[in-house]
Amino acid sequence: MKLAIDAPPLPTLAIAGRDERFPVHRVFCVGRNYAAHAREMGKDPDREPPFFFMKPAAAVVDAARPVAVPYPSKTTNYQHEIELVVAIGRGGRDIPVATALDHVYGYAVGLDMTRRDLQLQARDQGRPWEFGKSFAMSAPIGVLHRAQDIGHPASAAITLSVNGQPRQASDIAKLIWSVAECVAQLSDYETLQPGDLIMTGTPEGVKAVVAGDTLRGEIAGLGSIEMRVTG
Ligand code: MN
Repeated sequence: MKLAIDAPPLPTLAIAGRDERFPVHRVFCVGRNYAAHAREMGKDPDREPPFFFMKPAAAVVDAARPVAVPYPSKTTNYQHEIELVVAIGRGGRDIPVATALDHVYGYAVGLDMTRRDLQLQARDQGRPWEFGKSFAMSAPIGVLHRAQDIGHPASAAITLSVNGQPRQASDIAKLIWSVAECVAQLSDYETLQPGDLIMTGTPEGVKAVVAGDTLRGEIAGLGSIEMRVTG
């Protein structure tokens, strides 16, 4: 096939203990999936059905090693959201919760970086919040750990610090909608495909960062990621 222009690079993630890499197809994100975070965003954390939004695959930054990310344009409130990331290895639609984890290839630590001012402005005006969430380098993601190697973690400490100071600390056991439930629900809206990622939502403690800050996120058993905000 002859392409008229150069094809954009395929975003990929490192896989723990493997030479091969994981190609990223789409990035789905779950909104308000920890009760304490829903409350800090001014919403009722009752178990309403999960809602989803997306980031372009090109927003993924390989954070297997510490990464530098420039402070984005058009914001003065650039916030961190530390999240458990699920990688889909086997596609499917209308997937039952009982077999949903069979579709999971592995897990990683990720950051859903957010231009909070743009997001909330759009939300409150009833407009799409794309530019608050879906922008270049808004999804740094660490090394993927295969489910066949580590199993399916149901509880693990999830933390984020900025310049060594704790900001977010919770446990993935506190997900309102579990990984299996997120996979199942999402597959009712969209046929899942191998290479899809699901960012499962962030716990409370989201806050702004500025140029010069160093963010360090960790999920017990999945390692850590480090991101420096540059000017
Ligand atoms: Mn998020």
